[in-house]
Amino acid sequence: METNVIEEVFGTDVFNDDVMQKKLPKDVYKSWKKTLESGAELDSDIANVVAHAMKEWALEHGATHYTHWFEPLTGVTAEKHDSFLSPASESKPVLEFKGKELIKGEPDASSFPSGGLRATFEARGYTAWDCTSPAFLKEDAAGVTLCIPTAFCSYTGEALDKKTPLLRSMEAISKQAVRIMKLFGYDDVKKVSCSVGPEQEYFIVDHDMYMKRKDLIFSGRTLFGAPAPKGQELDDHYFGTIKERIAAYMKDLNIELWKLGILAKTQHNEVAPAQHEMAPIYTTANIATDHNQLVMETMKKVAKRHNLECLLHEKPFAGVNGSGKHNNWSIITDTGINLLDPGKKPHENTKFLLFLAAVIRAVDEHAEILRLSASNAGNDHRLGANEAPPAIISIFLGEQLEDIIEQIVRGDVSSSIQGESLDTGVHVLPVLKKDATDRNRTSPFAFTGNKFEFRMLGSSLSIAGPNFTLNAIVADVLQDFADELEKADDFDSAVKDLIKRTVTEHQKIIFNGDGYSDEWIEEAEKRGLPNIKSFVEAIPYLTTEKSIKMFERQNVFTKAELESRVEVNYENYSKTINIEAKTMIDMASKQYIPAVIQYTTSLAESINSIKAACPAADVSVQTELLTKCSSLLADAKKALVELEKVTEEAAEKPEGKEQAEFFRDVIFVKMGDLRAPIDELEMLVDEDYWPVPTYAELMFEV
Ligand code: ADP
Ligand code: MG
Repeated sequence: METNVIEEVFGTDVFNDDVMQKKLPKDVYKSWKKTLESGAELDSDIANVVAHAMKEWALEHGATHYTHWFEPLTGVTAEKHDSFLSPASESKPVLEFKGKELIKGEPDASSFPSGGLRATFEARGYTAWDCTSPAFLKEDAAGVTLCIPTAFCSYTGEALDKKTPLLRSMEAISKQAVRIMKLFGYDDVKKVSCSVGPEQEYFIVDHDMYMKRKDLIFSGRTLFGAPAPKGQELDDHYFGTIKERIAAYMKDLNIELWKLGILAKTQHNEVAPAQHEMAPIYTTANIATDHNQLVMETMKKVAKRHNLECLLHEKPFAGVNGSGKHNNWSIITDTGINLLDPGKKPHENTKFLLFLAAVIRAVDEHAEILRLSASNAGNDHRLGANEAPPAIISIFLGEQLEDIIEQIVRGDVSSSIQGESLDTGVHVLPVLKKDATDRNRTSPFAFTGNKFEFRMLGSSLSIAGPNFTLNAIVADVLQDFADELEKADDFDSAVKDLIKRTVTEHQKIIFNGDGYSDEWIEEAEKRGLPNIKSFVEAIPYLTTEKSIKMFERQNVFTKAELESRVEVNYENYSKTINIEAKTMIDMASKQYIPAVIQYTTSLAESINSIKAACPAADVSVQTELLTKCSSLLADAKKALVELEKVTEEAAEKPEGKEQAEFFRDVIFVKMGDLRAPIDELEMLVDEDYWPVPTYAELMFEV
């Protein structure tokens, strides 16, 4: 019998538990597992045996190199490849991989952003094996490489990556949640982990067209482009039939992801033309983060094989729905209890209500840094612009939970609204049970059954930031809760009192209405909820007294680490806009303006020749077009000169806040001024003269 492709390929490129069980001597496997579960330091003898088994397995799969795979603050993963070759013999190659090479690496930290940490400390950086995320194989033109997930830190232990704070935050929330569980009598709970399922949106365009657009190549988004005659007004793409070429791509993508042990589950078309989504089944936050990085990388790699390009930018096309990422998050004990599962009668489920109250308070108290965690330059085109989701953080709970919260606040909680049956009116269809919580697509932070869905994330972002932020802020509240409840004489009444007090004080963050409406913006202001307009504006919240206190108390970041991240954020923003501005200057001066000159010249020549041939002929159409195009051309040239000037000025600004603000307030505005006349020209100029593929071609010809 033929085996199913999923069964055949799943996890074949992963050095997972199964492989370890087979490859390691029994006692080594046992002590390895013990180390993993207890979180203790790995014994060097064990590390040597594991490294040897890992090498043997990798060699069997054709690997020649290994790399410490890590996630620096650049936003993409980094790797430095070393071959297994050891200098032991001159005549015969000896392939070696020792425990210490598995555990520790020493890439040169000076080539990665450190936000000033390097200036005060040493240039040296270390990568340390994260044994909670399995090693895997990667195949490309360079051959097969064994990738070892690692954390990256400085000589003195400061985190220079995104994994380190994520791992710290997971420990923090586990520690506090275990304390709470103990109070509820669950002495068997030793560890609690956060589970994450990220839904990833992306665009696919044709590779040949992509190569003709410098803006896509350099900045990942179109910096010019008039709207296509058909946008997404018919909404016929959403869940629509998947085109053959895309279907072939998705099939290939799934196989590659399954090989890496990634549980790629759902795929469908998204709202915009050429836009799609992929969601894996949820897993531990740490692995989910590594997997999401691999998903993004694999999406791009597989696209190229199909002569396609995958765009992960938050807003590849102006005026068209952008791409985000939904971070589904829940807290689950090592005994299998989902602490965010309300059960059938949530009003009686005190444990659930306490964890719910903790999330409500955490999100209300730290909305600013949560907003920041979902932001980058690309997401500025979505958050708070005319697109989902709004920049104001609020929590959607749904009818059932909102009703319970109201009862708690009133002080007489006695019932839960139950889901009804859904009557389709067709008897051959099964009777469907309606969920007690409806969906609200306009909420940035929505309760969806047994998890929270953080919907603000930009599509290209690492999910590490949103998750270490969420874990840390919730851990911080749980710590307060545990401190208070451990001291209580009467636990039952103390916990009820705590829930009531917390939700009463923080209910302003709960909003079940339409998050896109103007009324909500006014209402949110009245409630005192922050409405942070841009990424740059959100950055300083990382180092407010409140944030520093919280992150330090949870051992997720030191003050110095936070300060360094502020710098890195400003730098990332400035660099991004700088590249965009320079690309615009390049395209306008070398492509658009010359093309329009050619077109207007041909118009002028045609007017002249018509007049010469027939002086009485009516050339008003041509003349009007020539006048209009020439005037827009002059506007474009003027805007180009302006943009060039301010881009030079920007380079002179002191790095950090001031420069980033200049990029946002001046450069970004001038970029719009240059774009406007050129987009208008695109609607007038003969398409044979237009130097780049249009929106219609990019979005509909895949
Ligand atoms: P949507 O309808 O919003 O697309 P789905 O129900 O398909 O949402 O789930 C989206 C994601 O949520 C998937 O990645 C799924 O694995 C994840 N998910 C489901 N349950 C949980 C949970 N308890 N914790 C974290 N993620 C979860
Ligand atoms: Mg979703």
